[in-house]
Amino acid sequence: MNMANWLAASAHLRPHAPALLTGVRVDADYATFARRAAAVGAHLAQNYGVRPGDRVGLFMTNSTQYLECLYGIWWIGAAAVPVNAKLHGREAAWICEDSGAKLVVLSDDTLDAWADSGAPATLATLSVDSDNYLRCREGEGAPTPLARDIDDLAWLFYTSGTTGRPKGVMLSHGNLMAMSMCYFADVDQVRPQDAMLYAAPISHGAGLYNFPHVRMGARHVVPESGGFDADEVLALGRQLQDVSMFAAPTMVRRLVDAAKARGENGDGLRTIVYGGGPMYLADIRDAIATMGQRFVQIYGQGESPMTITALSREWHGRTGDPRYLERLASVGPAQSVIAVRITDAEGRPLQAGETGEVEAKGAAVMLGYWNNPKATSDALKDGWLRTGDVGRLDADGFLTLSDRSKDVIISGGTNIYPREVEEALLTHADVREVSAIGVPDPDWGEIVVACVVLEDGAAANDQVLDAHCLASIARFKRPKRYVYLPSLPKNNYGKVLKTELRQMMAK
Ligand code: AMP
Repeated sequence: MNMANWLAASAHLRPHAPALLTGVRVDADYATFARRAAAVGAHLAQNYGVRPGDRVGLFMTNSTQYLECLYGIWWIGAAAVPVNAKLHGREAAWICEDSGAKLVVLSDDTLDAWADSGAPATLATLSVDSDNYLRCREGEGAPTPLARDIDDLAWLFYTSGTTGRPKGVMLSHGNLMAMSMCYFADVDQVRPQDAMLYAAPISHGAGLYNFPHVRMGARHVVPESGGFDADEVLALGRQLQDVSMFAAPTMVRRLVDAAKARGENGDGLRTIVYGGGPMYLADIRDAIATMGQRFVQIYGQGESPMTITALSREWHGRTGDPRYLERLASVGPAQSVIAVRITDAEGRPLQAGETGEVEAKGAAVMLGYWNNPKATSDALKDGWLRTGDVGRLDADGFLTLSDRSKDVIISGGTNIYPREVEEALLTHADVREVSAIGVPDPDWGEIVVACVVLEDGAAANDQVLDAHCLASIARFKRPKRYVYLPSLPKNNYGKVLKTELRQMMAK
């Protein structure tokens, strides 16, 4: 099973259906999309010597060519190595070299970064904005994708690496298919008239969601800006209708702010799938109040892409449920192909209600890390993936996450989960963003420090925030210090860099 078969099928079943759009402009229908993918694959094989199983790096910004290249790579049985275009050239070069890529596909706007990357001149490159590319995609390719086994490598997904070197997560065609089936079963149905909007990097979550949309012959829309602009997203929703997207929680917040400012409710946006980082209860309630029931939450990680648990649209809407807020603060039950359990420090399964490390097992879980058997055996035990996340399951199977295990704060011998402190502070109207971290302390071992970004013109201070915390969390969990910052340091994926905050506080 080759994931490119889905493109070949849609090209047969819906040849004239619009497939690739830049903004509202249709660049290709499904027949053209598939023909281009086959031709790009043939070009890579003939002119760069790419063979089945070879890796091809993609260091390029979002464009419709991105999807042509991904499918071109799969068409000839090779594996894609998508690299976030916001990375430094050196980081991108490191990933491409680590993967042993035969070739790196660039876009004009990453050429400069690549030129400074220090990559060996022997590593071939091709720009999707070059005449050469535009000519090659009009060539001839194989009529059908090369046959692949479900365990064959399809996507080498480099982890975001908030600390240390990123690791290459090996995702097979079978993993991607399992993920896509879960999209249909646990996240959303897809109809041919729907559109997937790539407002986040195609190299990550947003790009992974192309598959269910290719399968159903739906539209793929790359915004003109190539990235996330809240007003542009709202406009595309209105113009194109039936638009779905993947958004990190920070993007959801900005979308909600933009919708409020315009007096809109996100008309035309069918489903906003959010995840990739904590969504605080206060924020999702605000989002639903402003934009209505358009939200689905997923919890996953590169190692089980987009597929550990999901909180469906239905659960977002069950406002009459006596446990509604508890449900909404959870990341939902396990997705269809996944089993989830909680274990203690020795790896023993815990009971419902007990807090420990989240583990996941099932068809979406990676094959392992590329060229890294030690990291693989640390992460996978009897098929169970140790996620490094801390959480608890309730008796009905809903998972509530606390934190990454390394972020748990131990103060006076007691575990404090920063997320609980952050949830409490975020319910204060003056608090825009917050991150709670542990800072070494001679008396307590660690103390909780809240790094707070206030709303513009807000006047809250330590006393106000302290009193606010006292109203909702235990006294011992309250931050012992507040630090006010203009913004929180985030990595290229929008994740708060707690390591950096800890370093800042240690100075
Ligand atoms: P990545 O592999 O870069 O996608 O990062 C995965 C990590 O992001 C997970 O291990 C979690 O710590 C976090 N994460 C993903 N989805 C969620 C979610 N819905 N809620 C809270 N944290 C999440």
